[in-house]
Amino acid sequence: MTSQPTVKTLLILGASGDLTGRLLLPGLARLVAAGRAGGLRLVGAGSDPWTPEQWRERVQSSSAAAADTAGPDGRDALAALAKDTVYHQLDVTAAGALASLLESLDGPIAVYFALPPRISQMACEALRPEEVPAGTRLVMEKPFGSSEESARSLNRTLARLVPEDHIHRVDHFLGKATVLNILGLRFANNFLEPVWNRRHVEKVEIFFDEDLALEGRARYYDGAGALRDMIQSHLLQVMALLAIEPPATLGERDLRDAIASVLRAASVAPPFTGSTRRARYGAGTVGGKTVPDYAREDGVDADRGTETLAEIRIGIDNWRWNGVPFILRSGKALGKKRKEAVITFLPVPHLPQGFTGVDSPNQLRIGFGPDTLEFDVDVNGPGNIFSLGRVTLEAELSASDLLPYGEVLEGVLTGDPLLSVRGDTAEDCWRIVEPVLQAWAQGSVPLEEYDAGSAGPAAWATSREGQ
Ligand code: NDP
Repeated sequence: MTSQPTVKTLLILGASGDLTGRLLLPGLARLVAAGRAGGLRLVGAGSDPWTPEQWRERVQSSSAAAADTAGPDGRDALAALAKDTVYHQLDVTAAGALASLLESLDGPIAVYFALPPRISQMACEALRPEEVPAGTRLVMEKPFGSSEESARSLNRTLARLVPEDHIHRVDHFLGKATVLNILGLRFANNFLEPVWNRRHVEKVEIFFDEDLALEGRARYYDGAGALRDMIQSHLLQVMALLAIEPPATLGERDLRDAIASVLRAASVAPPFTGSTRRARYGAGTVGGKTVPDYAREDGVDADRGTETLAEIRIGIDNWRWNGVPFILRSGKALGKKRKEAVITFLPVPHLPQGFTGVDSPNQLRIGFGPDTLEFDVDVNGPGNIFSLGRVTLEAELSASDLLPYGEVLEGVLTGDPLLSVRGDTAEDCWRIVEPVLQAWAQGSVPLEEYDAGSAGPAAWATSREGQ
């Protein structure tokens, strides 16, 4: 289903930034080339004194891949976008600067804050409500605040300016196709939903193991670490989708209410030495490439003890999930990429005597990017029909023809906040991880080590699974 934008102008603050060049503009280009952003005007702004040509050149080069695969109409639309785009130099934190730019633009406007989080906050604080034209949408990047309290304070600042359904807190991790794949799987299959609970599920694990190391991002990553970077935002959202109650509709209100409700019931139980683990990679080899010790990477402050691998066990205290562990793990420089949710079912209550072999628990694995589904079942093995053997049913799920940021932008431009994180949920995600962050900062949980290219610390059960 496609719809055309209600937003007339997309203003990107942070025109020269990494996010804009690497993710936002290519995502927008695919959307434009697909004819799904008709009539949109793009405006870039930054603190650098760029010429209009410099900005246009950036827009064009970021659209090259989309242009290569587009038809004639798509290429025309991309050319029109680049021809009409303009650049403004301004300090968004200066009183009145952003307000005057907003006043000069054709509305409704979507303002994309592709800025360092502190600058985005200052820019919003500098705006007065009467300076924000009616219909304006504010698009905030992650991290949204750095604690429950700071997220609440940022929410208060934004709520002065526009209504909640005009605030888009971006979490690009799950594109619309992935979200709908999970919801379709869970709620359009009657055989699955009755067993999707504590009576039949032993544990739910969500992995995001990357083989990439630091890749020169010490400035950001060393201040964040794996728990803040991946688990606090992205993996909690995936967990929520796997755990929500069936919504009545796919409307943003129903879906986001369900997400908020399940996250409110989620917490990490102390003692954190039992429910959490953290580790940092040392030198090693990933895919034939030598990776230096994290602590010796340029820009890393080794004494900070930033974790490059984190794991937390969450409990959801409600009727459906009480007692089922949700294990969320993410890290860098691991030997094998692993991006999936694994639902492990309980063993059967009684295996008829006479079968031989091993009755392993059923596992359902949902892979993210590419989206796949694998279901392990025990069947009678070949040869001896009394002997149990394991087979895997596999399917590839449909992908989106847009890039993740294209999907994010489509939501913004058409005024659909479905994929945006709602304000209360943004605060709650910090509430869940904050006690863990505090315990880690106090050194209550040891910082373990693993070699780059390994599966993680050998003592962790999750390092041994799926190898
Ligand atoms: P960068 O540091 O690369 O870019 C920040 C931009 O902000 C620059 O264009 C800079 O312009 C501009 N800027 C800074 N101060 C001002 C100011 N006072 N007035 C106007 N413009 C200003 O950051 P990223 O692009 O990496 O990140 C942007 C946001 O996106 C952050 O919130 C980040 O957490 C988030 N994000 C980034 C991802 C990524 O892969 N990069 C992934 C997911 C989220 P100038 O150089 O001219 O000062």
